[in-house]
Amino acid sequence: MTQTENLSSGQSYLAIPGPSVMPEAVLQAMHRSAPNIYAGELPDMLPGIVADLRRVARTNGHVAIYIGNGHATWEAALSNVIAPGERVLVPATGSFGHDWGKMAEGLGAETEVLDFGNRGPIDPARLEAQLTADKAQRIKAVLAVHVDTSSSARSDIAAVRAAMDAAGHPALLMVDCIASLACDRFEMDEWGVDVMVAACQKGLMVPPGVGFVFFNDKAAEVRRSMPRVSRYWDWAPRAAPEAFSHYWNGTAPTHHIYGLRVALDLIHAEGMEAIWRRHEVLAHAVWAAVDAWGRQGSLLANVQNPAFRSHAVTALRLESPQATALRDWTEKNIGLTLGIGLGMAPPSDPEWHGFFRLGHMGHVNGHMIMGLLGGIEAGLTALSIEHGAGALDAAAQVIAAG
Ligand SMILES: *Cc1c(COP(=O)(O)O)cnc(C)c1O
Repeated sequence: MTQTENLSSGQSYLAIPGPSVMPEAVLQAMHRSAPNIYAGELPDMLPGIVADLRRVARTNGHVAIYIGNGHATWEAALSNVIAPGERVLVPATGSFGHDWGKMAEGLGAETEVLDFGNRGPIDPARLEAQLTADKAQRIKAVLAVHVDTSSSARSDIAAVRAAMDAAGHPALLMVDCIASLACDRFEMDEWGVDVMVAACQKGLMVPPGVGFVFFNDKAAEVRRSMPRVSRYWDWAPRAAPEAFSHYWNGTAPTHHIYGLRVALDLIHAEGMEAIWRRHEVLAHAVWAAVDAWGRQGSLLANVQNPAFRSHAVTALRLESPQATALRDWTEKNIGLTLGIGLGMAPPSDPEWHGFFRLGHMGHVNGHMIMGLLGGIEAGLTALSIEHGAGALDAAAQVIAAG
């Protein structure tokens, strides 16, 4: 096929792990003239949005909203509880864990990294040992990533809390749920999470631009004892605003608020349990296809044990440079964009072309996942990349069983 006679016209499909596919209703709600930011509908909408965000995070705690991406929420959360010279422990399961640690370093924190590689979850026993060894209890916070989007490893956050308790360590448990919120089950209060960060462009299905920091009373107390907190990042006025502008420290993200309102309506109409279940089934369909492909050739899930895989994103390995060739083919020829590999090899290394990722988070359903998998099958075939047969049958059986 040549560029002019290919099969890419039609609705394109961005199947990368964020930004995720956005509902038409969210986009339509944003397509409007700017509202009054001082009175009326917009300010009136906020208390309901905050309450609905808490329901997504499964917390009765506080919420601060920031105009920013996920990285902004990392900095926001750290700025409220970690002073220069204080220590954080980073149990890393991929490049997002390492990067959150570097963000802490940039703010003057001492960072202790506990590296679990990039193919599996946090080992709670090792974490417990590390915390037990911290006799002076200098570690002020543990920075855990629920789903590290680079590796697609999912860690057991309740087990992380149990390990901290077993070590008798008072550090705050801070969790990055940027990829996992509203995709993988997450229970902030029940699991004993003190601070959680998320952003709007993944499971929350809104264009990038707004981030959230959830925190409990213990974290609020830590914030109060800080020598100083950056005025912009300070979560206290944002979580308990006396005026509408305090939510944002300035102008509100007007259109994102309209989009978020609709996204939260969609989420709660479906229900959290149903959303987690949908992501679980769709992830299993993806894995069934990956297993079948992998019976011949080199395609392979990055995380071997399904119990430790995310339901929002799947990282894959395919002999270099075939992963890049496959991504190029699906994008150019059939309008399907697959995710690049992240943090597995430096971009200058030829091995970089041996990794790719599939986003299956947010506004995705059975026919989209079958389309995604069918598109990959077409690419593998077109490029004569060796792969096992029966992937689509295997995925269809998972979808059919529901
Ligand atoms: C996407 C992502 C981030 C970074 O978010 P940005 O909006 O790109 O800044 C951080 N952590 C995880 C787990 C993510 O998936």
